[in-house]
Amino acid sequence: MPQSSLHDPRASLCDDLGRTVRYVRISITDRCNLRCKYCQSNAQTCYIPHDNILQYEEILRIVKILHGLGVAKVRLTGGEPFARKGCPDLISLLRTQFPNLDLRITSNGTLLQEHVPMLKKFHVNAVNLSLDTFDAQVFTEITGANLLGNVLNSLDALLAANIQVKLNAVALRGITQPALDDFIYAATSLGIDVRFIEFMPIGHDTAWSKDLFCPVADILALAWERVPLQPVSVDNPLQGPARMFEIKGKRGRLGFISPISNHFCHTCNRLRLTSDGYLRLCLYDDQQYPLRTLMREEKLDDLALAEKIKQVIRTKPLGIHLLQARKQQQPVAQRTMSGIGG
Ligand code: SAM
Repeated sequence: MPQSSLHDPRASLCDDLGRTVRYVRISITDRCNLRCKYCQSNAQTCYIPHDNILQYEEILRIVKILHGLGVAKVRLTGGEPFARKGCPDLISLLRTQFPNLDLRITSNGTLLQEHVPMLKKFHVNAVNLSLDTFDAQVFTEITGANLLGNVLNSLDALLAANIQVKLNAVALRGITQPALDDFIYAATSLGIDVRFIEFMPIGHDTAWSKDLFCPVADILALAWERVPLQPVSVDNPLQGPARMFEIKGKRGRLGFISPISNHFCHTCNRLRLTSDGYLRLCLYDDQQYPLRTLMREEKLDDLALAEKIKQVIRTKPLGIHLLQARKQQQPVAQRTMSGIGG
């Protein structure tokens, strides 16, 4: 297709509320070697059949189109991205084909250590490691696997390779508060960002409950009691929704992401692509658009696919409305986070 039309600045992805999409999270597999209670607590999860999973060439094609429409940042996620065979090949192809792309990965860190030289070689911009505790027993209780050591080894290897790392912890009542000193120590001793995200009632298989939910404001209040914090102002359109704080006189920062207690829908700049090739406009919305079918069966060319994507993005909803409309204790979206690409 003519590249020029995809690079037309007027072609950027805007919705009807004036938000511009600049960021896509791509789930490259729904498979995961962990069973985190907040994500998919049921070990009997049915995986998407192999034939329905997007092939790497299809992912590259969608990235090419989205990049042409102004998407500057791509995050590979899952499931666990390193659980998919050939994940390094995808990273290498993405970097080679899109040298300026801000390319990031979210991983549970259990299978990552051996891939650190590859991540370095292909200039992956940052890796987010999901880690909810530094206590091996609690880690096993949350994730169903005794693999904390693997995550810590991956963390060390990433830092030794000078790759930017952020730690993401789901705020869980009774689990995060007792671990706060460990998180603050990790942030200050390693000089990294540690971010706490509110537990969202997403997926038919989540163990979400009011009792486990902990507003990040509670963690922030506790952190203020431990260390002097200084809010960081951010002026970067690609920046995520975390409210960041420096720890005065120390390295490292703490971040707080509040999708439930203090939503940031008005500034949402992201899309999600599921591993079976559906575009999702909002984490809370089960409406999804079948790019796989448009590519495989309807055989749309790049220009037609770009038009279709621009059209659907206009309808990007305000997730807060969906959250408010949900019935008590029901999940706001049925697909698990590992299926959507959290
Ligand atoms: N397997 C990778 C990992 O663990 O980072 C990537 C996929 S995981 C679904 C992506 C992120 O979603 C993780 O940071 C995880 O903690 C977060 N997550 C999953 N379920 C969540 C929920 N119900 N509420 C908030 N965050 C959740």
